[in-house]
Amino acid sequence: MSNRSDGVQNDDLEPGTILTYREMCEAEQSSLQRGMNYRMHVDHSVLLMSRRPGAPYADMVEDGGSTLVYEGHDATRSLDGPDPKQVDQPLVTSAGNPTQNGLFMAAATAFLSGQHQAERVRVYEKVRTGIWVFNGLFLLTDAWTTNASGREVFKFRLELVHVDESVTSRADRSVTLGRSPGRLIPSTVKQEVWKRDGGRCVECDATDDLHFDHIIPYSAGGSSTKAENIQILCARHNLEKRDHIR
Ligand SMILES: [Zn+2]
Repeated sequence: MSNRSDGVQNDDLEPGTILTYREMCEAEQSSLQRGMNYRMHVDHSVLLMSRRPGAPYADMVEDGGSTLVYEGHDATRSLDGPDPKQVDQPLVTSAGNPTQNGLFMAAATAFLSGQHQAERVRVYEKVRTGIWVFNGLFLLTDAWTTNASGREVFKFRLELVHVDESVTSRADRSVTLGRSPGRLIPSTVKQEVWKRDGGRCVECDATDDLHFDHIIPYSAGGSSTKAENIQILCARHNLEKRDHIR
């Protein structure tokens, strides 16, 4: 990927950061062609989610916004094969290799049996065509199958991680499970806010470097689940506001 200085640094992304598809690919240094990307990097996997009406998978936000339940992916559509929506989601390919479902399932199983640390997963969510939001860093803590309309689908539990940003060295940052879950804004709220604010900073009408901002911070009791408390700010106005609060 070229032009990293112009793009978004992977380490600097904060939950709520709004990205174009290109910026998202730059942040992950990869062209993201599919929703599930097990161990895309040596230290994390990447999941893309879409909860818009008509989205193909039933991903859910639970526990007041600290947990995502991500639905596994269907079999690949083939010309003479059955409708992928009518058959069980596959654990292995026809060649016998694990699918992305299988890889994430194995990681969750290894964590649950104590063999391995929980897989770190960075989650991005589609707001609209070409517009994505970084939902944060999560840990994969469980996986199971469930019967949905007569077929088996995979479910993956992802718990939002709180990164202690007061520690400057990335390696020394303690990564703890969601004690500070407030920044995960439900999809419906994101879409309502995006529409209401016209995809622009409410202060200056900028259309790039945008963030979903809590008007009253979550730490001060502001809601993540009401559009009235969420607005779009550009990076400059986001920083100005934070300096003001400090
Ligand atoms: Zn602005």
